[in-house]
Amino acid sequence: MRTVHGGSSRRPPASVMAWKRMVVVGLNQMCVLVDDVVYRPAIVRLTLRLPRWWRCELGQLSVWLDERWGIGYWQTDDQRTLAPGDLCDVCGRRPAHLEVGGLWEDVEPEGDFMESHPLRLCFWCQLDAPIESEEQLSTAIADARACSIAWRWRWHPMPN
Ligand SMILES: [Zn+2]
Repeated sequence: MRTVHGGSSRRPPASVMAWKRMVVVGLNQMCVLVDDVVYRPAIVRLTLRLPRWWRCELGQLSVWLDERWGIGYWQTDDQRTLAPGDLCDVCGRRPAHLEVGGLWEDVEPEGDFMESHPLRLCFWCQLDAPIESEEQLSTAIADARACSIAWRWRWHPMPN
């Protein structure tokens, strides 16, 4: 005979939630450590022949478990990194975390070139502004790509 303790909608005990939160946080922290190595310019360049490269799989697992378990880590914790998104439009190898150009809800359109040419970027690819034509955009993308995928190791996109 089975004994049922509580309904299915009941939240697990605090100790279980704490353990699950540790898993979600730990996966994200491991992902940040892996990212710091595998997204360096030289490593990305070395792996260009591969059809696919690391796409923050540990971070994505962390996001998935966070939603499944209802932890809320990715909604509330300021110490987390941004959730991994689609691939960067410039390098095509790292997840995009930023968007430049395009139209924004609360911002009045100015009619500039980038409003109609939005790009998703990773932290490693940085475009030189201003960009006012297709030619300038192509040059800026090529320059940013060459810089973020190169035989370099030490360069890091985020200010320390
Ligand atoms: Zn990129």
